[in-house]
Amino acid sequence: LMRTEFLFLERGETLTEDEQFEVYRGMIEALDGRPLIARALDIGGDKQVAHLHLAREDNPFLGVRGARLLLRRADLLDPQLRALYRAAKTGGAVSIMFPMITSVTEVLALRQRCEAIRAELNAPDLPIGVMIEVPAAAVLADKLAAHVDFFSIGTNDLTQYTLAIDRQNPELAEEADSLHPSVLRLIATTVAGAARHGRWVGVCGGVAGDPFGALLLAGLGVTELSMTPRELPAVKAMLRSSKITTLREVATRALDAETAADVRQLRLTLQ
Ligand code: PEP
Ligand code: MG
Repeated sequence: LMRTEFLFLERGETLTEDEQFEVYRGMIEALDGRPLIARALDIGGDKQVAHLHLAREDNPFLGVRGARLLLRRADLLDPQLRALYRAAKTGGAVSIMFPMITSVTEVLALRQRCEAIRAELNAPDLPIGVMIEVPAAAVLADKLAAHVDFFSIGTNDLTQYTLAIDRQNPELAEEADSLHPSVLRLIATTVAGAARHGRWVGVCGGVAGDPFGALLLAGLGVTELSMTPRELPAVKAMLRSSKITTLREVATRALDAETAADVRQLRLTLQ
């Protein structure tokens, strides 16, 4: 799973379509048939790109970020989609995922753009997914699922928006816990909404790379986890030594917990 805005954050200039094509093609080649989920540009909020000269906002986390920016800036969206579809034509298993989705209207507009570009390039159909990062999207997951191929829950932002805690505020860092029962209930709602349309659900927020977090997510019905390579061995070891029936029981208890601390206590029942 690739956060493509890093390409823009690391450079002092906007990448052209051709430059992006080369990067994506290189990734597909390196992956050698393994899947690539390319997250479309998630700019705004905590990811400010100076060379785009975007308008200053008083509340950037509640402003024009992620898909909201892409839908206003065809000069960013179209070259990226063209580069991705061109790269997909060279082979590989590429999916496209859109960040910061709040409504079905946004999904339909983005899908329409994807289809227009795919048809123009005579490129293969690619699975299109959206991130569930805003409570509105989790609550409406059954409606969104009708229009997408998969979900990836961004628990960093979902936690921020559910608990009304700025993810960058050091004073509140301890309270910004992705295992808060309210966040877990939104994850469960997302999984249930996806299941109504036979879609799979992944998690790409930090909690997916936390061994206990990964176990709880599996128990909640999440079937794909994204994490840094460093976190992989511990998570794999925990999952492989667990029974899914046990994880489902623990997840059910977590959904009934009063506090994040109570959820974390459930770790002891797994030892
Ligand atoms: C998230 O919000 O959990 C997520 C995966 O996206 P990012 O951390 O890049 O905002
Ligand atoms: Mg996010």
